Amino acid sequence: MEPTITLLGPPGSGKGTQAERLGAERGFVALATGDLLREARAAGTDLGRRASEYMDRGDLVPDDLIVAMIRDELESLDEKPVLLDGFPRTVAQADALAEALEERGRKLGAAVLIDVPDDVVVERISGRHQDRDDDSPETVKERLRVYHRETEPLVEYYGDRGLLRRVDGEGDADAVSERIRAALD
Ligand code: ADP
Repeated sequence: MEPTITLLGPPGSGKGTQAERLGAERGFVALATGDLLREARAAGTDLGRRASEYMDRGDLVPDDLIVAMIRDELESLDEKPVLLDGFPRTVAQADALAEALEERGRKLGAAVLIDVPDDVVVERISGRHQDRDDDSPETVKERLRVYHRETEPLVEYYGDRGLLRRVDGEGDADAVSERIRAALD
């Protein structure tokens, strides 16, 4: 069975960068829900239109929309190793993921938490080129609040299941990649 891994972490923790690297190094197909939603929005699909208002506010898109989207994606992946970036983000999504994987004879191998404190998140996002509508300081604060309220409970959820790998996300991207490799091996 091919591995399925998820990357957890606050906005600005570098999930996207690390997912790309791991994908290239280890042949994972990276599925980033934020990217998929931005593509759907740019393409003007029904999903994109419905997701827009939540994304602009920094809130989570409702679980049923996200779970349906991920189910569709998993369907087209057959046996390939999958790296999830930005999903699951709620306990309900985590339960739905477990169910969807089980139906396909797969199961989650690890949940890697890229741990970065809030002040570093705010500093990083305000420092980076703000080409995303949801990178304004107010929206970043809301995304962080939502992360702590909705997504952080997954640390305990995956801890209880023996799947959590906590990695220090501070420092440069190479150092973080090295820690992730060590955590997965
Ligand atoms: P970040 O991790 O920096 O917040 P993402 O690109 O992963 O950025 O997500 C951007 C936005 O897309 C989120 O603020 C949210 O509105 C939406 N989104 C992405 N993934 C999910 C998810 N799993 N559940 C609900 N909403 C999501």
